[in-house]
Amino acid sequence: MQWVIDHHIVPFVNKLLRAAAIASTLAIGTFAGVSAAAAAPNLTTTATVASAQATGLPDNTWWGVPNGATEAGYNLYVPGYQFGCNGDQRHKGLDISAPTGTNIHAWGSGQVVGTGYDDGGYHRWIQVYFPSIDMTMTLGHLLDGSQLPVGRTFEEGDVWAQVGTTADGLTFSHVHYRASHGNWGASPIGPCDDVDPFVVWSSLGLPA
Ligand SMILES: [Zn+2]
Repeated sequence: MQWVIDHHIVPFVNKLLRAAAIASTLAIGTFAGVSAAAAAPNLTTTATVASAQATGLPDNTWWGVPNGATEAGYNLYVPGYQFGCNGDQRHKGLDISAPTGTNIHAWGSGQVVGTGYDDGGYHRWIQVYFPSIDMTMTLGHLLDGSQLPVGRTFEEGDVWAQVGTTADGLTFSHVHYRASHGNWGASPIGPCDDVDPFVVWSSLGLPA
């Protein structure tokens, strides 16, 4: 979604989100029988090892975007933001910034169930469905013409679309991820029905 961000807080937000992701990695490691205590002394190494695990996603991707950076986290309070539940001002999605035209890679196997354009909201968007976890995700602010059409199936690592342009009125080029349980088809996910996109990411078995 479009909103103005104080870029002075971005490094802090990035740090928080990456710390949360690493904490999640540790939790997954514990579940798999790996000692979290053993991994804890070097968090950087732990994260590097986790992202190097075999998946269909290219190396050096962050939320499916090569060299992407988290610009705004899910449910972050943003004064003036208008797309939250019941009109509140929390950011209901996850923003990953990258240069215009950067590929956005599929998080898992699924199908495109919706696509469209709205001025001032998602701009060019697609909606994808993951049958294995019964969850839907919307990708907004895409480069016009880059996105897969409705009905197209994809596998993990395939290209969904490319990051769009600031000509849409954004303060930085990025993809906005929004997620929900169930198959929403081409209908927009309701403002109170979304979940943290990380739930999709982790449900698909992807390492943080
Ligand atoms: Zn956003």
